Amino acid sequence: MNVSSQYSVVLVAVDLSTSTDYVIQRALELAEAESLHLVYVMDVAHYANAFVTVPIADVETQIREHVKAELHSLIAKYSLKNDAAYVVTGHPASQIHALADKIGADLIVVGSHGRHGIQLLLGSTANGVLHGAKCDVLAVRVDK
Ligand code: AMP
Repeated sequence: MNVSSQYSVVLVAVDLSTSTDYVIQRALELAEAESLHLVYVMDVAHYANAFVTVPIADVETQIREHVKAELHSLIAKYSLKNDAAYVVTGHPASQIHALADKIGADLIVVGSHGRHGIQLLLGSTANGVLHGAKCDVLAVRVDK
């Protein structure tokens, strides 16, 4: 079997950290570029906890614009489909599940840090995505 044709709709969850390129490159080893979709979840509750002096809606708009630009550079860099980037708001794992269902993903790809001890108990996005996913999940080991 041709490994690169195993998955036809792949949702890659990107946090736009330094490991994002590596996570996308691993996804590209399993699927064609035109199968890949990128998602960044804006966790507004997280920003609301930060010390900000402007309305949270303005912060959200600014972050959304910045994230969109970053996703579009990734689309160009990896020759992905132009409309294959999503910026959604909410809890990362839940939103990734919802979008995976919506686009009919057969694989979700996330980065996973080698956590242990209390960090492991507190959980991670990768764990959250794995629990409750209706399709395969690839957790790409990344080191920050
Ligand atoms: P974490 O261990 O929770 O820092 O997240 C590990 C992986 O979860 C990242 O490499 C991404 O694949 C995914 N992830 C984390 N936060 C987000 C986010 N806000 N939007 C999309 N994916 C995310």
